[in-house]
Amino acid sequence: MDLGIQGKTALVCASSKGLGLGCARALAEAGVNLVMNARGVGALEAAAQSIRDEFGVTVQTIATDITTEEGQSAVLEAANGPDILVTNAGGPPPGMWTDWEREDFIKALDANMLTPIALIKACLPTMMDRGWGRIVNITSQSVKSPIPVLGLSNSARAGLTGYVAGTARQVAPSGVTINNLQPGIHATDRAVSLDTGVAEQQGITREEAALQRQATIPARRYGTAEEFGQTCAFLCSQHAGFIVGQNILLDGGAVNTTQ
Ligand code: NAP
Repeated sequence: MDLGIQGKTALVCASSKGLGLGCARALAEAGVNLVMNARGVGALEAAAQSIRDEFGVTVQTIATDITTEEGQSAVLEAANGPDILVTNAGGPPPGMWTDWEREDFIKALDANMLTPIALIKACLPTMMDRGWGRIVNITSQSVKSPIPVLGLSNSARAGLTGYVAGTARQVAPSGVTINNLQPGIHATDRAVSLDTGVAEQQGITREEAALQRQATIPARRYGTAEEFGQTCAFLCSQHAGFIVGQNILLDGGAVNTTQ
C-alpha cells in the first residue's frame, strides 16, 4: 500500500533501538526523511546508516537525552518543522509503591509525559499552518491495564493520555492527528530487562520468565518492532486522517477489554 507520505519529514525520538527504531524504519520504507535520536552515538549512527543504505532517504542523527530541554531544542532545530512527530523515551524502572519518592515521579513525568507534551506543543503550530500533520506517541498497554510494578510509568503515561485526548480534538480541524500507540510486551531490550527482573525475583532463567509471560498472551508470543513500526507508519499515512485521539493497543490480545 502506498502510504502517500513520500518526501515528508519525521522526527522520531529515542529511535536507535526497539520500538522507536521500528517506527523509523517503517517511515523510511514509506519514503519519509528522518531525524533520529538517542543518547548513545554508536547504535544511533549504525541504525541511521543502515536506514540510509536500505531505503535511500535522508537521515540526520542527534545524539542527546530527549528528556532535557537542551535535547528537545537540538532535535527540534534539526527537524525544522517536521510533518510527522513520533515521541518516545525509555520507560521508568519497576518497583513497589514504597520505593517511589517525589524525585522518582518528577523523572518519570519529565520523560514520559512532559517531554512528549513539550515536543507536541513545539511542532503543532507549523503542522497546523500547513494543514497537515501526524503525531504518534509511544505509550504503553499499562494505560488501559495498569501493571502494578510499573507505577511510575502508569502515572506518567496516564497524564500524557489525558493531555492528548483533549489536544487531539482541538487541533483536528487543522488536519493534524494525534494518537497513542500502546505496546504490550515486545521483543526489545526493554523486554529483556523486564524478564531479567522476573527471573531474579523468582529464581528462574530469563528464558523461563519469557515463556511464562508469553503463556499469558493470547497470541502466545511477544510483538516485534517491525509490526509495531508498520502500525505507526499507517497512523502517519494519508489514509489515517480520520483516526483522531485514539489509544491503540498492540498487545497480542493481552488486555481483555471491549474498548
Ligand atoms: P528499548 O529497546 O530499550 O529502546 C529504547 C530506545 O530509546 C533506545 O534507542 C535508547 O537509546 C533510546 N532512549 C532511551 N532513553 C532515552 C532518552 N532519555 N533520550 C533519548 N533516547 C533515549 O525500549 P523499547 O522496548 O523500544 O521501549 C520504548 C518505549 O516503549 C519505552 O518507554 C517503554 O517503556 C515502552 N514500552 C515498551 C514495551 C516493550 O515491551 N518493549 C511495552 C510497553 C511499553 P539510548 O539508550 O542510547 O538513549
